[in-house]
Amino acid sequence: MAYAYDDQNIFAKILRGEIPNSTVLETEHALAFHDIRPHAPVHVLVIPKGPYVNWDHFAAEASDAEIGDFTRAVAKVCAYLGLTPGEDGMGYRLLANSGPHSHQEVPHLHVHILAGRPLGPMLVQPG
Ligand code: 5GP
Repeated sequence: MAYAYDDQNIFAKILRGEIPNSTVLETEHALAFHDIRPHAPVHVLVIPKGPYVNWDHFAAEASDAEIGDFTRAVAKVCAYLGLTPGEDGMGYRLLANSGPHSHQEVPHLHVHILAGRPLGPMLVQPG
């Protein structure tokens, strides 16, 4: 499978420092920053620094070091924000849209961390 990465997407521009962001945490292979249009009191995006379109692309082509660092970065953000369940946090929801049916808007892999209130059922049914 060949993945076409568009290096003009908004998150690529954030990674290059061309667009500002509100950084929560940075690791060797990942950057976490606040979503510009939050859907919950806590809404943070975690992105790999490498050029990956979506989860499938990342799983297929990222190195073990990138995958390990990115996975741990998500948990580090949750711990940093006091969300970790079992450690006095009230938990969180992770969401990674991949492809047209998911309504993915930005073609650079990102995991949404949503928290800060009861989030309700997973999906709202259409109509
Ligand atoms: P998607 O629908 O692709 O899963 O989510 C893309 C997310 O990126 C949206 O929640 C949107 O608010 C966020 N977003 C889009 N442009 C920017 C931006 O320039 N800065 C930040 N921080 N978030 C953005």
